[in-house]
Amino acid sequence: MLRYDLHCHSTRSDGLCAPAEVVLRAARRGVDVLALTDHDELAGLPEAIDAARDAGIALVPGSELSVSWEDLTLHVVALAFDPGDSALAGGIDSIRSGRSSRARRIGDSLAAAGIPGAYEGALGYVTSERLVSRTHFARYLVDAGYVGDVKDVFKRYLVPGKPGYVEHEWATLAQAIAWIHGAGGVAVLAHPGRYRVDARGLRRLLADFRDAGGDAIEVLSASHSPAQSAEFATLARLHGLAASTGSDWHGPGESWLDLGDLPPLPAGVEPVWSRWS
Ligand code: AMP
Ligand code: MN
Ligand code: MN
Ligand code: MN
Repeated sequence: MLRYDLHCHSTRSDGLCAPAEVVLRAARRGVDVLALTDHDELAGLPEAIDAARDAGIALVPGSELSVSWEDLTLHVVALAFDPGDSALAGGIDSIRSGRSSRARRIGDSLAAAGIPGAYEGALGYVTSERLVSRTHFARYLVDAGYVGDVKDVFKRYLVPGKPGYVEHEWATLAQAIAWIHGAGGVAVLAHPGRYRVDARGLRRLLADFRDAGGDAIEVLSASHSPAQSAEFATLARLHGLAASTGSDWHGPGESWLDLGDLPPLPAGVEPVWSRWS
């Protein structure tokens, strides 16, 4: 049986390792099929594809798209698309284009809470200004001594109701799924256990996602407990959605799971890879 890891990040978004290092680490850890899924970005894929060829593993093109739904931000992982598709690239560009102005607003909000210079600080952690994310602010806040670790940052700052959180409009669900399908890809709802919804909201979310043409949900994710994995396996079957698996690895020491650290998919679900192979 092949080992899949269909969700991880490189320095082309908020990961700590270059795309080729991510691929090499995955190969060393026994991953057979890897998807690099940088946030709102495709720029790491050529390097990852070359590295995967050298390492003898399969690389599935991926990206994790930011989507606004009701009052939440969702993450939709695009997999197995044509990386040269210009409509998908244009759509992803349009999502990303709001990031630097959003980051300035995050900096203003932190300044108002007594933390000056955080925007400039966060810029020290990115490979490109257009990629700046809350993760980069979190690393700055830790290194500058405001908070003990990154996980604590997301309790005290950068989340709704706390300093450093700003509203932002990303793509719509319909747009994101249309771009992904237009490029021949598969649309996966990332870490469904992580959104702040009650049971009814979750049902509405899964129904909206499926009705918009969504293909799969992540059943296995670092964000899920074993009980949540079982719950999402059941919900995937109920909604006619396939099941995906991904560590959401961001770097050594920063993530709950390392690359490939995932059990097999629960019995009875349709693996997402059956939609492309
Ligand atoms: P952004 O796309 O700028 O809103 O940043 C979102 C990123 O912040 C996610 O992809 C995670 O990498 C990181 N993040 C969000 N919540 C947490 C958390 N509770 N703990 C650690 N990292 C988080
Ligand atoms: Mn991230
Ligand atoms: Mn995510
Ligand atoms: Mn992710």
